[in-house]
Amino acid sequence: MAGATETFYSVIRRQGITRRSFHKFCSLTAASLGLGPLDASSIASALETKPRVPVIWLHGLECTCCSESFIRSAHPLIKDALLSMISLDYDDTIMAAAGHQAEAILEETRAKYKGKYVLAVEGNPPLKEGGMFCIDGGKPFVEKLRSMAEESMAIIAWGTCASWGCVQAAKPNPTG
Ligand code: SF4
Repeated sequence: MAGATETFYSVIRRQGITRRSFHKFCSLTAASLGLGPLDASSIASALETKPRVPVIWLHGLECTCCSESFIRSAHPLIKDALLSMISLDYDDTIMAAAGHQAEAILEETRAKYKGKYVLAVEGNPPLKEGGMFCIDGGKPFVEKLRSMAEESMAIIAWGTCASWGCVQAAKPNPTG
């Protein structure tokens, strides 16, 4: 997965866009927002210095088709999302690492980007029986979710499972 220290500007340049076109883009963005030339410089400076947003993507009870949709997205293409927009630093479904190695990456990412990462959550945390219906790394998923949520900048409930429970929450909802 791509490193999170790369700025938007370096991504833009890597894709072959000239510095002149970059500044044109900043001016047009400022103008379309009703801002002045000084703001265009601020936009340019922000894009030149700020790293892409680190994202940690967790999985609870789900069918994983939200990930399937993401992988097959067309606007934007997944390659553009992953290489130009976000820095997906952890996603145990699509990353190569597994087990203890994946857990170590998660801890490392959390420590490195404390308070600055976006937590994307696909699937839900079952709550009955202390959360034992979804065990992740030897612990209930709900514990992992709470712990990762505490230090995130923002949380995205990705899909119906994460938002409302979906199939798992259908009556009689044995997992809670
Ligand atoms: S919301 Fe849940 S059931 Fe629906 S596609 Fe996403 S993971 Fe699958």
